[in-house]
Amino acid sequence: MNIQNYINGEFVNPINGEYIDNYNPSKGEIYGQTPNSSKEDVESAYQAAKTAFPSWSNTTLEERSKILLKIADLILEKLEVLATAESKDNGKPISLAKQVDIPRAASNFQFFANAITQFSSEAHESVGLNAVNFTLRQPIGVVGCISPWNLPLYLFTWKIAPAIAAGNCVVAKPSEITPMTAYLLGEICNEAGLPKGVLNIVHGLGTSTGQAIVAHPNIKAISFTGGTKTGAHIASVAAPMFKKLSLELGGKNPNIIFADCDYEKMLATTVRSSFANQGQICLCGSRIFVEEKIYEQFKIDFIKKVAELKVGNPSAKDTNMGALVSAAHLAKVKSYIDGAKLEGGKIVFGGNKVTVENCENGYYLQPTIIEVFDNKCSLNQEEIFGPVVTIISFKTDEEALQLANDVPYGLSATLWTNNLNRTMQFSKQLQTGIVWVNTWMLRDLRTPFGGVKNSGVGREGGFEALRFFTEPKNICIYSPS
Ligand code: NAD
Repeated sequence: MNIQNYINGEFVNPINGEYIDNYNPSKGEIYGQTPNSSKEDVESAYQAAKTAFPSWSNTTLEERSKILLKIADLILEKLEVLATAESKDNGKPISLAKQVDIPRAASNFQFFANAITQFSSEAHESVGLNAVNFTLRQPIGVVGCISPWNLPLYLFTWKIAPAIAAGNCVVAKPSEITPMTAYLLGEICNEAGLPKGVLNIVHGLGTSTGQAIVAHPNIKAISFTGGTKTGAHIASVAAPMFKKLSLELGGKNPNIIFADCDYEKMLATTVRSSFANQGQICLCGSRIFVEEKIYEQFKIDFIKKVAELKVGNPSAKDTNMGALVSAAHLAKVKSYIDGAKLEGGKIVFGGNKVTVENCENGYYLQPTIIEVFDNKCSLNQEEIFGPVVTIISFKTDEEALQLANDVPYGLSATLWTNNLNRTMQFSKQLQTGIVWVNTWMLRDLRTPFGGVKNSGVGREGGFEALRFFTEPKNICIYSPS
C-alpha cells in the first residue's frame, strides 16, 4: 500500500516523486512505499498551516475541544483497523496495539480536548503601583512535531493533540520506519471536521524531511521524540534560530529491587518492564539492580518467568513478543549481545534469533538476560532499546543509588520497596524525570513527562505541554486611582 502526504486536508504525492520502502518486520518483506518528502513538500505543508492559523487560533475552545473529542471517538471506532496497521508496520503484538497503542492515541486527544478548557494563566496585582499584570498565553503559530517508531500513533498524537488544542497549526512527521497509522490519522481528521491545514503530515527520512522541518525559518517550535544523538543534532540546528525546543530522548533506566518488596508483584511487573514491546520502550527498565540477599532467588524466578514468554507472529493471540522493528535494529541489538562476553557479561537466558513459522524472514529475538559485574560496561551505559536486560546485585542503599545514577541518561527509574524512608530518599536522589515506586508505566496524563541529563530537555504532559505550545505574554495595565 502506498502512503501519501496529508497537506491542507488533501492526500498528495511528494513533489520530487521519491519513495522509500516500507517493511513488515514480522515477515521481513516490503509491503508498501512511503514518500521521501523534500524541502518543497515541507514548504507546502508550512504554507497550508500558516493559512489555517488565523482562523484556527481564533476558534473557540469549545469548538476545538469538540473536534478533538470527535477524532478520539473515530480512533476508537477504528481500533481494529488501526491496531492491525500498527502491528504490521512495527512488528508489535496486535494485542498490545489494541490494549495500549491505539486506546492511548484516543486518550491523548480526549485528554487535551478537556485540558484546554481548564487551562489558565496568572494575574499579578502590583500593589502600591496602581497596576495589574496578567499573562496572555497565545499559540505560537506553526509548530513542528517529529516522532519515533516504537509507539508510532501513541507518540505522534501525544504531540499533535496539545499543539492543536492550544491553537497552533502543525507540520508533523512520523518515523519513516512506521508511517502507516499517521497516514490513517489524516483521514480521521477530515472525517472529524478538523479544518484544512491545521494538521499537515509529511513523510520521509529524518535527514531530508525531518531536517527541512527543523531548519524551516518560520516553524518556531519543535517537539521531538527520538534518539539522543538526533536530539543533539536538532538542537544544534534549532538553537541559532532561537526556536522553542522540547526534546524527549533516550533512556537507560534502572529497576531497583529491594528484598522488602512485594515479591510476586515485582516479578510480574519486571517481566513487563523488561520486555514489553520487545523492550523497545524508552521507559523500559533495562538495568536491573537486585539486593544481594534475594539476588540468587530472583535470578532463578526471573529466568523461569521470562522463559514462558512466547516470541511469535504478532497477529497470533498468544504472542507475548513480536518482531523487532527492522533488520538494522535487530543487528544493532544482537551486536550488544554478541559483545557481552568480551565485557565480562554472562548470558543467563536467551541471546539468540528466533525463527517463527510462516514468518521465517522476520526480525525475531529471544528475550535476553545478561548478568554483569561492572556497571561501566557498554551493556549498562548505552541504550540498546531491545529485549535485553542486565542484572547485577548490590549490598546497600548507597551502592544502589550510586549504580542507578552512574549513567549518562536520566529518563525514568523504578523502585521496589515497602520502606517509606527509603522511598523518600530514592525519590529525591534519583537523577531521573520520573520515579515509579512499586509499579511501572502507570501513566496519569496530567503529570510532567520527560527526562534529565542526556534524556532530554523540557516536559510533555498535562499543562506542561500546553505551556510549551503557547508563548506567555505579560500585559501590564496602569490605572491611577
Ligand atoms: P531517531 O532519533 O532515529 O528518529 C526519531 C525521529 O526523528 C524520526 O521521525 C526520524 O525520521 C527523525 N529524524 C532523524 N534524523 C533527523 C534529523 N536530522 N532532523 C530531524 N528529524 C530527524 O529515533 P528512533 O530510532 O526513531 O527512536 C528510538 C529512540 O527514541 C530511542 O533512543 C528511544 O529511547 C527514543 N524514545 C524516547 C522517548 C521519550 O519519551 N523520551 C519515547 C520513545 C522513544
